Amino acid sequence: MKKGFVYLVGAGPGRADLITVRGAEVLKAADCVIYDKLANPALLRYARADAEIIHVPKRICKRSFTQDQINKLLIEKASSGQTVVRLKGGDPCIFGRGSEEAAVLAEAGIDFEIVPGVTAGIAAADYTGIVLTDREYSSQVVFVTGREAEGKQESKIDWHLLAKFSGTIVFYMGVGNLGYIAERLIENGMAPDTPAAVIADATLPGQRVVKASLSRISEKCKAESLEPPAIIVIGTAADSDTRLSWFMKKPLFGKSIVVTRDARGNAEFAAKIVQQGGNPIEFATIKIKSLTKTNEFLQVLAKLAEYDWIIFTSSNGVWIFFEALHALSKDARVFGSAKIAAIGSETAAKLSEFGIKADFVPSIFTGEQLGKQLIRFTNLHGKKILLLRSQLASKELIDLLSQAAAKVDDVAVYTIAEEKADSAWLIEKIKNGRIDWLMFASPSSAKMFFKQIPGKLVNSANVRVASIGPTTSEQLKNLGLKVDTEAAEHTIDGLLAAIEKIYK
Ligand code: SAH
Repeated sequence: MKKGFVYLVGAGPGRADLITVRGAEVLKAADCVIYDKLANPALLRYARADAEIIHVPKRICKRSFTQDQINKLLIEKASSGQTVVRLKGGDPCIFGRGSEEAAVLAEAGIDFEIVPGVTAGIAAADYTGIVLTDREYSSQVVFVTGREAEGKQESKIDWHLLAKFSGTIVFYMGVGNLGYIAERLIENGMAPDTPAAVIADATLPGQRVVKASLSRISEKCKAESLEPPAIIVIGTAADSDTRLSWFMKKPLFGKSIVVTRDARGNAEFAAKIVQQGGNPIEFATIKIKSLTKTNEFLQVLAKLAEYDWIIFTSSNGVWIFFEALHALSKDARVFGSAKIAAIGSETAAKLSEFGIKADFVPSIFTGEQLGKQLIRFTNLHGKKILLLRSQLASKELIDLLSQAAAKVDDVAVYTIAEEKADSAWLIEKIKNGRIDWLMFASPSSAKMFFKQIPGKLVNSANVRVASIGPTTSEQLKNLGLKVDTEAAEHTIDGLLAAIEKIYK
């Protein structure tokens, strides 16, 4: 039997891509992932599709776990020969009981590795422009737990020492106790006007910051209904230089943006929204179904080299094509000397991932422009052209190329099926004004989306609609929707740029 192994992995402070490279690497290899509340569930995308995923919330709820049960689970899984990743928020050993889990494993003779993570205290500071150490005012930092319950007889916190501490104090788990913490510090001699800052949901699109003097911070947090998880920073550092607060100034910071492609496309889109500080909501409307097992496709694959031009009109078409090629143990040499065209920069970029440099990309990324510009670019008279694209693509491109006397074959490599998402949830959010944008990257996703969500609601609610280009806008208008912005460049990046422009 394979020997079991446990990785105690720090998931980082919140935002999924703040996990370490090592953390992501071991997550990909895991047979079993055990994660708790503070680890971002988006990280589970790194896990293998067949990995067992176990959520172990510790909060008091129906399915909550005690530390004892978690320890037993770790031993049980590792003893059966599995590679286990125990994913914990921040760093596993900073107020995370990772050391207790490690001790239990050592006791049971199970091998383990501790993978450090970015701890919330440091990330919260970096994401708000608070500088924990500074040559001028802070040569020392201390991390303190704020969960020393009020009235607890033997406090392990040395309030006297903290009150005199000439550096930066960072409290974890302290929001509920903030009034008590401030009182104890002031009582022990800290100046009531010492700067304090509380950062909730650090590194996430919902990040919030409250700043006040130590004597007023608790009251202000209550007034602003600040909720955990939050980090409290006390000391000169908390009165930070607002110019360094870079994250909350991101163009899409705090904006809730619904992406409506297929699951894979949504994930890519969501990652880009996160880069701009936005809050992506993945609402899959379509499923991409490969058609590369059809006779039509297999026959055309055998004679690709006979074509003069092969045209891809979406990045989906490209990856599905190459996936099929690899499954048949073939590679890009099947193209022979055929020239290759892509509808736009994203499709060209996807081709280049497979080692193909497109011979032609139009300057405007639509099917119509692809046809018109290709005709101007080269003489297509009598030339054999193959379109590898969606079964649902329009006839426009075929008509244009045929008019230039080309011989066009149109072979579907995929089709699009309907997908259902949690529409009741989204309708509620839209009604409550919690959604800023709906993003549409294709006519089919627009159509499927409004089968689930009433267009009337969207038109009357405080939510805006963005479209990737003219074909999608037309579909939206046919569905009775108003389009608030259309991308100038018809790509996902162009779509994002269009809404960013509105906030500039
Ligand atoms: N091991 C974790 C800490 C676990 S204790 C780490 O290294 O970060 C839980 C506390 O961490 C919370 O009460 C809060 O104080 C802090 N915390 C975790 N994630 C946070 C976040 N995204 N924003 C603010 N504080 C966070």
